[in-house]
Amino acid sequence: MTIKADIKEQFSKLIDLQSVDSEIFDLKFQKEDFPRKLEEIDQVLAGKKTGMDAAESALKQLQVEKGEKENELASGEERIKKHEGELALIKTNKEYSVMLEQIESVKADVSLIEEKIIEALDKIELVQSKCAEEKKAFEEEVKKSDAERSLIRSEEKKVSDRLSELSRKRGALIGAIEGKLLSMYERVLENRGKHALSKINGEMCEECNMRLRPQVINEVRSHKKLVICENCSRILYAED
Ligand SMILES: [Zn+2]
Repeated sequence: MTIKADIKEQFSKLIDLQSVDSEIFDLKFQKEDFPRKLEEIDQVLAGKKTGMDAAESALKQLQVEKGEKENELASGEERIKKHEGELALIKTNKEYSVMLEQIESVKADVSLIEEKIIEALDKIELVQSKCAEEKKAFEEEVKKSDAERSLIRSEEKKVSDRLSELSRKRGALIGAIEGKLLSMYERVLENRGKHALSKINGEMCEECNMRLRPQVINEVRSHKKLVICENCSRILYAED
């Protein structure tokens, strides 16, 4: 492809454009990563919340179980009192000893229930301290995630501001580049990302590291037409 304008001069503008485009490329890449980072923060926080909720619901369950045992205990004690009252009304020794046995059996049940209540109290104490730990961990994570989110937002803002600045700079640069050359450059940029130009480094294409034919190098150095790397399709240029 031949262009009318001075190739050397056009290339110096393209090189400036490439440095703008390469920064835009990196910033866009960074920008795309922000939502993922925010989501990661939310996930960690949700994990801590799940831990806290699980401990709290275990505590509630234990308290319900303890309440049930306490009701059983009260009704056992009620039965003992009732039976002890009935003892006074009993006429025969046989009935009396049957009633005593009944009372003993209820007392045995009651003492088992008391043991269960003590066990439940121990468990509740453990789970209460677990709850307090989980709550503290969650609250710390809330603070940490707030700080991380605001850091990401300020980074996002910086990136956006810089992108607008670069977009203005780009607009000014492309005005001075010949249309055919610019559209060629942009086509390569779209396919290659980041760099559409590649410098000749010794006998190599700097971007893809392939050795270039001497004729290709001569064509680039003669500044008469646009030369494309046969391997990576980038536009080749040579520094004086
Ligand atoms: Zn190449």
